[in-house]
Amino acid sequence: MPRIRQLDAVLVNQIAAGEVIERPGSALKEMLENAIDAGATQIYVEVEQGGVELIRVVDDGCGIVPDDLPLALSSHATSKVSSADDLEKIQTLGFRGEALASIGSVAQVLVQSRTREQEQGAQLACDGGKFSSIEVWNGRPGTRIEVRHLFYNLPARRKFLKTIPTEMGHLSEAVIRLALGFPHIGITLKHNDRDVYDIPPQSPLDDRITRFFGDEVGKKLIPVAAEQGPIKVSGFIADPAVNRGNNRLQYFFVNGRCIRDRTLQHALQDGMHGLLMVGRFGVGYLYLEMPPELVDVNVHPSKAEVRFRDSQVLHHLVRSAVRKALHGLPMHSTLTAPTSGSAGAWRLQTPPAPQRPLFPEPGRLEVGRQALPELPPPPRSFETTPIISMPAPMPVVQPEPAPEPVLSSYDGPRALQFHNSYLVVLDGEGMLIIDQHALHERILFEQLKDRMRDGQLEVQRLLVPEPVDLPAEQYALALAHQEHLAKLGLEIQPFGGASLLVSSYPAILKRARPAAMLRAAIEHLATAGEAPRVELLLDRLLATMACHAAVKAGDKLTPAEMDALLAQRHLCNDSHHCPHGRPTSLFFSKAELDKQFERT
Ligand code: ADP
Ligand code: MG
Repeated sequence: MPRIRQLDAVLVNQIAAGEVIERPGSALKEMLENAIDAGATQIYVEVEQGGVELIRVVDDGCGIVPDDLPLALSSHATSKVSSADDLEKIQTLGFRGEALASIGSVAQVLVQSRTREQEQGAQLACDGGKFSSIEVWNGRPGTRIEVRHLFYNLPARRKFLKTIPTEMGHLSEAVIRLALGFPHIGITLKHNDRDVYDIPPQSPLDDRITRFFGDEVGKKLIPVAAEQGPIKVSGFIADPAVNRGNNRLQYFFVNGRCIRDRTLQHALQDGMHGLLMVGRFGVGYLYLEMPPELVDVNVHPSKAEVRFRDSQVLHHLVRSAVRKALHGLPMHSTLTAPTSGSAGAWRLQTPPAPQRPLFPEPGRLEVGRQALPELPPPPRSFETTPIISMPAPMPVVQPEPAPEPVLSSYDGPRALQFHNSYLVVLDGEGMLIIDQHALHERILFEQLKDRMRDGQLEVQRLLVPEPVDLPAEQYALALAHQEHLAKLGLEIQPFGGASLLVSSYPAILKRARPAAMLRAAIEHLATAGEAPRVELLLDRLLATMACHAAVKAGDKLTPAEMDALLAQRHLCNDSHHCPHGRPTSLFFSKAELDKQFERT
């Protein structure tokens, strides 16, 4: 057995560097954090060859006194905490006192610094952990740190570095996170003498987002603001029409520090639930401010994750802030034709804000709801029409009396149906194409939800309950969710073998066969995987049922039915997306058509 021995300091630092300094981007992140902690307002970053050759960070912060230079480059030496008490409420980005020491052990580092009070500054070099002597340096107040030849003494690590563009991506990301986390800071980034970013100090957050992520995101930002007790959330989300296949554009900052956090990501997604297609991720830049004792930042080597005292409170706050921000927003999807010569398919966009909404705001319509006169019964009715003339699908007893909302006869522009699937409506501003199924689905979904929330979800009892045979596991699943299903108006009982009896269904879903609706709901439960929160589960089941009961693509609609659908469209909170997040309509503005026909 080999004997145990104490490792020398350089090796200790190199081991520590393994955890914290993975690549040029992580070295830059640490250097930027130090500049912020030093109170800098302007930071210049220059890198060469993806940062492998050189990373130079110059700041106008408080500087380091000459005698402290060796300490700055030593491990477990920091000016930011001195007691366990301080650890409980960390207000700085750094606190471990090992970043510069780690970098110094795996690169050639030169630190030059001068405090405002000094006439002259000093400099110290550190080459793979070996210090030079301290020398005079005549620079401006602030700190200038150069890191050259990262991992020059660890060839194995160097081999793991990726291509210059990949490393450059990580370096840019470090700059982006800092510039978003501290919007008062001015920061520039140069790569091989070329300007990459030049963000002036104090430039507003939405400008920064636009610079970093382009107009597609920047033009679709929606402000978010909420607070609860000492915790504040602010920032922006993007219109859910702007979404991604991963969550990389979900940025969270806690007291300026950019972190990853599953609870917060989940809360953002949850807040956009119903507006995003399955598998798509919303875009957001959310800032949490809280007293430092409510968050433990000392849980992750590169401080990329934190632990919250109460993450449930944060989940709730973020989710409701996002919901609130999205509520009642005019969101039309518009269609852009491929420009001549481009092989691109039709592209979905939302129009530039601000835009006059095609339809009045939901709020205004709510008021008019009761006052409007009745609609004459259409020849064949379905659920969106307020008057029920179609016989119920099964023999029924009298449903519990529930007032149907009375609507005006629709006096907006008439729709034209084509392919028995789409409705086209003209308007002074342009042309709207509606997916009849998606819209009807949304209408039913909202009606169901509203009524369930108000405890007024009328159920239609079946005179003769309908038996439904199910595979064993679905049978068990249905009974396990008996209570949830009952909440949705689907009452079931065991009926021997693997059969269930359905004895009621929601009265507003008259189109659907109760048995088929139950099957769809159970199928959804079977594929939903782990049990989601009850509220979410009910939402999803409602969406499934609404989908099932809605008019289908291929159903011919009468003019009265089309009118009813359009009239009800106005009453929706979000008439622009079906409950699964697909758009219900596409809008061609006249201006857009003029452009496509090259009239402008
Ligand atoms: P930490 O940030 O955890 O304290 P670092 O190794 O990153 O540890 O830095 C060590 C110390 O060096 C800091 O505590 C700080 O006092 C000093 N320092 C590093 N960079 C700067 C800078 N840009 N301006 C002023 N002081 C700095
Ligand atoms: Mg630091």
